[in-house]
Amino acid sequence: MKAYRLASREEHPENTIVKIGEQLTVGGRELLVIAGPCAVESREHYLEAASLVKGCGAHVLRGGAFKPRTSPYSFTGLAREGLEILAEARLQTGLPVVTEVMDTRDLELVYEYADILQVGSRNMQNYTLLHEVGKTKKPVLLKRGFAATIMEWLLAAEHIMAAGNSQVILCERGIRTFETYTRNTIDLGAVVAVKELSHLPVIVDPSHGTGRVSMVSPIARAAIAAGADGIMVEVHQNPAEALSDGFQSLTPAAFAQMIGELQRLAEVVGRVLNTPSVIPKEKPDNSVYLC
Ligand code: PEP
Ligand code: MN
Repeated sequence: MKAYRLASREEHPENTIVKIGEQLTVGGRELLVIAGPCAVESREHYLEAASLVKGCGAHVLRGGAFKPRTSPYSFTGLAREGLEILAEARLQTGLPVVTEVMDTRDLELVYEYADILQVGSRNMQNYTLLHEVGKTKKPVLLKRGFAATIMEWLLAAEHIMAAGNSQVILCERGIRTFETYTRNTIDLGAVVAVKELSHLPVIVDPSHGTGRVSMVSPIARAAIAAGADGIMVEVHQNPAEALSDGFQSLTPAAFAQMIGELQRLAEVVGRVLNTPSVIPKEKPDNSVYLC
């Protein structure tokens, strides 16, 4: 018997389409765009960010309330208050929210607020957490561990599925290599491999995957061209002032431009990128986007 079964395409040849909230899916023909700041920084800031990214075409809002930080002195998120702000943003925009659950002790709380439970790169092999999110009924966004092989990543998904939850969305976010110019080395080959090996949807996070704002849109395009089912990007109104990851955050205008580019690319690769607000496709010029 293979070490992974439930996640394997051999066992389940058809693509899995994960339902998000009432209206969205990922894994079918339509591409999914998740966007928002790295962290929920304040109510005013987040509500504005949420309406901006919605206006530019995002389908799902992102924002961390529990932030895994390398230094204990960095901003670690607003915890419950951050979750309450996310809930308000969902109410205001009508968009579902994804946020990270770092610890099993917070799962009940995060579950109350999140539409998608994010398991971060650092926790990809936290098997207790995988088991607990596997016992829930909400979709799980499973980020690839920064030192995990493709097989270890699929086995992490198998843990969630074996616990009862088949609604797993994989997210490639770069791995650590000898290269230091980029924050991580984005592995788009893994997107192709995982599509061959598994029926689960796969999205790409070019923000953490590169750590460089100039590389985010090109890598997002490459991800969609390689067969990814969507992208997750960090967007901030004022990246220079961001409390985390400003160096890899798009401005809303740059995000809008990227969406326009991805819409045109989607047609070429046989996908569609529907956006809640209609962006004029024929005008890539930044100035036409009102966000
Ligand atoms: C994030 O997306 O908020 C995050 C912390 O990313 P990662 O777990 O991939 O580092
Ligand atoms: Mn971040």
